[in-house]
Amino acid sequence: MRKAPKHKKIYALPKAFLQQFGGRVLPMCDMRQYTSWRIGGAADWLLEAESEADVLAVLNLAARYDIPLTVIGRGTNLLVSDAGIAGIVLRIGAAFDKIEYQADNRVRAGAGVLLAALSRRTAERGMTGLEWACGIPGNLGGALFMNAGAYGGSMSAVVTEVRFAAYNDAKAKEAVIGTLSGDDLRFDYRTGCVGEGMIALAATLQLAPGDAAASLAQIDDIIATRAKNQPLEYPSAGSVFRNPEGSHAGYLVESAGCKGMRCGGAEVSQKHGNFIINTGEATAHDVLRLIEQVRRVVQAKTGYALETEVRLLGRESD
Ligand SMILES: Cc1cc2nc3c(=O)[nH]c(=O)nc-3n(C[C@H](O)[C@H](O)[C@H](O)COP(=O)(O)OP(=O)(O)OC[C@H]3O[C@@H](n4cnc5c(N)ncnc54)[C@H](O)[C@@H]3O)c2cc1C
Repeated sequence: MRKAPKHKKIYALPKAFLQQFGGRVLPMCDMRQYTSWRIGGAADWLLEAESEADVLAVLNLAARYDIPLTVIGRGTNLLVSDAGIAGIVLRIGAAFDKIEYQADNRVRAGAGVLLAALSRRTAERGMTGLEWACGIPGNLGGALFMNAGAYGGSMSAVVTEVRFAAYNDAKAKEAVIGTLSGDDLRFDYRTGCVGEGMIALAATLQLAPGDAAASLAQIDDIIATRAKNQPLEYPSAGSVFRNPEGSHAGYLVESAGCKGMRCGGAEVSQKHGNFIINTGEATAHDVLRLIEQVRRVVQAKTGYALETEVRLLGRESD
């Protein structure tokens, strides 16, 4: 447990809620343990949902008591503020890791399923279409929110239905479960079909018949390429910047001479220009300062204004 930040409001949760919540409840939870960057202050509360009923209960609580609510998966695309996160962080994890294989190469998976595991499992069963996802360390839920993609593939190409929970303010004034399909499934570059305020619970993916050996060989190739080109030996959050129209952020950072640039414990990787690594004790403040420096230099030298792909969460630091 970490200390409460000075001068910041720490939200309390009603005892009755805590008694009936089915999952783990971690007060003043050190977010370094829940992010791949190993950076961040404490969340007032980290709640691990065990069931859809838990998710609905948290949505209702947050709406009724006006408590800020943040949902996370594996924390592999997040920069959490050093001042922590106010209110509740709801983690969709292991309890949502069911995979169900259906007819005609359809697969239904819970939002807590690791995307890389889903990629390998479907390949082993002779389904093709998700090999590109084998090296992405997040959950299916995070991938739906981010429209995760790599090597020419993306979630938008395979998702046919999403089950979600959201607080229904207009009608029921309580949290409800809904589904998205057809025209409601809108994706964009690194913007998924699950909007703010919606919590993805599960999704159905349509894959195609394939050859297991060929898919697994493709996966091995991708894993080897990523290990060669990405600094996987250090904590990071993958690509920091979105690729701008017509170029690649990693290429721009490298050609602007920013590789190796440092702020405190944060460093632009020598191996991949779009990765900022935590060399040990990096803070969110270090990473944010480095991001700003890189943006300034890239803009000055290439004319491109880079935007961040990683999601910034939490309280403003002093
Ligand atoms: C080494 C490395 C390599 C990576 N490579 C790639 C890559 O090739 N391609 C790529 O696209 N990404 C890549 N990433 C980034 C990251 O893995 C993906 O964006 C992933 O989809 C995030 O999933 P997550 O579960 O970690 O989500 P989190 O980081 O926990 O959350 C990301 C966002 O999704 C939201 N979210 C999470 N779960 C849910 C849910 N159930 N319902 C609604 N919203 C939710 C969160 O609120 C947050 O805004 C990489 C990261 C690392 C560390």
